[in-house]
Amino acid sequence: MEGQVLFFRDTWAEVDLDKITDNLKAIKEILPSGTEMMAVVKANAYGHGDRQVAETALRAGATYLAVAFLDEAIALRKKGITAPVLVLGASRPKDVNLAAEKKITLTVFQEEWIKKAKDILNQNAKLKVHMKLDTGMGRIGIRSKEELKAVESLILNDDRFLFEGVYTHFATADHLDHFYFEKQLGRFNQMIEWLEVRPRYVHSSNSAAALRFPAASFNAVRIGITMYGLTPSLEIEPQLPVVLKEAFSLHSKLVHVKKLQKGDKVSYGATYEAAGEEWIGTLPIGYADGWVRKLQGQDVLVEGIRAPIVGRICMDQCMIKLPYYVPPGTTCTLIGRQKEEFISVNEVAQKLETINYEIPCMISARVPRIYKWNGEKTEISNSLLK
Ligand SMILES: *Cc1c(COP(=O)(O)O)cnc(C)c1O
Repeated sequence: MEGQVLFFRDTWAEVDLDKITDNLKAIKEILPSGTEMMAVVKANAYGHGDRQVAETALRAGATYLAVAFLDEAIALRKKGITAPVLVLGASRPKDVNLAAEKKITLTVFQEEWIKKAKDILNQNAKLKVHMKLDTGMGRIGIRSKEELKAVESLILNDDRFLFEGVYTHFATADHLDHFYFEKQLGRFNQMIEWLEVRPRYVHSSNSAAALRFPAASFNAVRIGITMYGLTPSLEIEPQLPVVLKEAFSLHSKLVHVKKLQKGDKVSYGATYEAAGEEWIGTLPIGYADGWVRKLQGQDVLVEGIRAPIVGRICMDQCMIKLPYYVPPGTTCTLIGRQKEEFISVNEVAQKLETINYEIPCMISARVPRIYKWNGEKTEISNSLLK
């Protein structure tokens, strides 16, 4: 564990990089041959750790990385990642020289933006760009032939731009109903026909489309959620052609255990009342760690048995009702497996009435991450003490 940082709290997340490797290899198997994989590592790799996941993904066969905004791309460069990185969101024209210098690829879709960038770009700069087409997502991108022609000619007429890619994004690739997906795919095929030059990369698929619709793979796909072992949606989970392995788990250790008598109360508002003699344990995790107050009632695993969170979740701690006396120091699992029991990311998402994507993202930077590689602990990352 070279250069490791320690942590001094009894709450941590584990990220199993072997599972990320297995997921990507399984996905690559079913892609049309020659399809490149872009690993989407935005939002600190969906909360898993941007550098660690980027390195793992590149080793597992990804050839490109993608992030949401320029700062995330620069963060990867600062951490020594030299692979190509695409910024999926909008960047500012004034930052084009920085992007060019750091060999970061930007997404472009506005005529005005290109004009401003031309005024700012250094004489000898080389900026790689991917053109974004809005085929129905309604977020960012070119929508008409006129815009596409104008943006393309501004790029092609200036050798400081390298027109490297064109892409779109699907709004409903994770729905059972294909109708809107087909409509977007048709529009994308039509729009790329309008291009004078077909760039090296043509890509449209996120995880759901990559796994379900090979015809939408073109020559690259953008893999996010499935790399982490999570399904793009519950409705398509039964038909996914690969077995996904969840890479993220969350753990804490009991810091206190006590016996309550009938009528004794627990936590703020004194809303929970013991019905009789009860063993109550305290875990050092709370809403500031991302274990939000709405998770009151959610189970935690203790010795492979489900134990519910009782009383209000505090900023840094919460209480669970134990099945029997368990000593302080016992490891509890909030997400992941213990013996025969498993609390999935999906279970937590359903409790919060949200999607699985949100769960690892919301486990805050205050929770250290332990990385496993080749079945062994390889690194501890603690953003508090780095
Ligand atoms: C986040 C994102 C992805 C990855 O989507 P998943 O569903 O996580 O695979 C792909 N493309 C774009 C444009 C994105 O913003």
